[in-house]
Amino acid sequence: MSSHGEQHDFPPIPLKLAEGVRSVAAAAASAKRNLLDLDREGMEKFFVETLGEQKFRAHQVMKWIHHRYVTDFGQMTDLGKGLRAKLQEHAEVVVPNVVFDKPSADGTHKWLLGMGVDGKNAVETVYIPDKGRGTLCVSSQVGCGLNCSFCSTATQGFNRNLSTAEIIGQVWITARHLGNVPAQIRRLTNVVMMGMGEPLLNFDNVVRAMNIMRDDLGYGLASKRVTLSTSGLVPMIDRLSTETDVALAISLHAPNDELRGQLIPLNKKYPVAELMASCVRYLRANKKRDSVTFEYTLMKGVNDGPEHARQLAQLMRKFDNAAQLKNAGKVNLIPFNPFPGTGYERSPDEDIRAFQKLLLDSGVLTMVRRTRGDDIDAACGQLKGQVMDRTRRQAEFKRRLQEQGVGDAAA
Ligand code: SAH
Repeated sequence: MSSHGEQHDFPPIPLKLAEGVRSVAAAAASAKRNLLDLDREGMEKFFVETLGEQKFRAHQVMKWIHHRYVTDFGQMTDLGKGLRAKLQEHAEVVVPNVVFDKPSADGTHKWLLGMGVDGKNAVETVYIPDKGRGTLCVSSQVGCGLNCSFCSTATQGFNRNLSTAEIIGQVWITARHLGNVPAQIRRLTNVVMMGMGEPLLNFDNVVRAMNIMRDDLGYGLASKRVTLSTSGLVPMIDRLSTETDVALAISLHAPNDELRGQLIPLNKKYPVAELMASCVRYLRANKKRDSVTFEYTLMKGVNDGPEHARQLAQLMRKFDNAAQLKNAGKVNLIPFNPFPGTGYERSPDEDIRAFQKLLLDSGVLTMVRRTRGDDIDAACGQLKGQVMDRTRRQAEFKRRLQEQGVGDAAA
């Protein structure tokens, strides 16, 4: 359990849904199409093939859902009565449950969203406002199976992939809360797929959700403002390069295989050289792409020495050469965010600055990511769906009681 301190009991979950908004639980038994699962292409197909309607009707409904946050077909006033009735029969708009939401002292805001029919799987979504922009950090899986040694999400294990509706639902819930109106009131300007989970292991649902983020009928974000972060699944990076032109971030964290293998088990399958080569291919596949961001979490005494900085600078120079592009590789340094039970520590500020200086002096564009929202455990690597933990603990508690012959009486 991370250090949030809240306890979430089941039941009841305080649902903060407006009148007329269908919750996940309410939709449990229905076989209707959840329109949040569909991007423009899917919506058009559904309207033409299932409803026998024209394409532009699909566009109208997308605007109601993603621009005005209306989920009740009865309120979609520019649709005829017949179509509204048909929609009610065949479709629905089901959004995640807000289990709780919590603002941080620095303006960061975190939501714990209940997913799935029982709502017991929860993921975290974080909004990070900054000068002139608002970034949403979105989760792609409940838990994560990659087991990176320094990440809090790893400690809960992998539960399941999120559906497209559950991914875009995170954007829907937060955008509605923020009063975001695409192309008019821009509170949400960037999305980073850097929440819980490995997005490339949930490829189709993530790509479809990113389509909706980038569509004018959805959230209207420019492709370069939607970033997918991966721990380095090489074949999937190649697939991504042909299917979408979002920005790519790589969780590198170490400049050589020996160290990276200790931090990220996946490195044994896809070592650094192969990973870098796939990033070169990613840039080459689309002329509009001009850089890849490499994330590097600085852990005291682990990967933060001058020798690591020099090796990283060398790796970046090699990358620029291979891509035949100046500053093709950008480095984003992340001060390690601690969580209960971790053996790692954050590098001291002066070491972080020295690491950055060494890279900058070698001509590598290097930023230090400001730590935001750490007072609510919303910083990188601190996200963890607590509800599942709690249910697990409850199950464990019950089991122990049963072992002692107390049975259900005390549960
Ligand atoms: N699985 C994807 C998406 C997660 S992104 C990926 O690995 O890229 C979350 C980012 O925060 C990743 O770069 C991750 O390596 C980093 N991170 C994980 N734990 C962290 C921690 N405790 N402190 C700082 N950064 C961390």
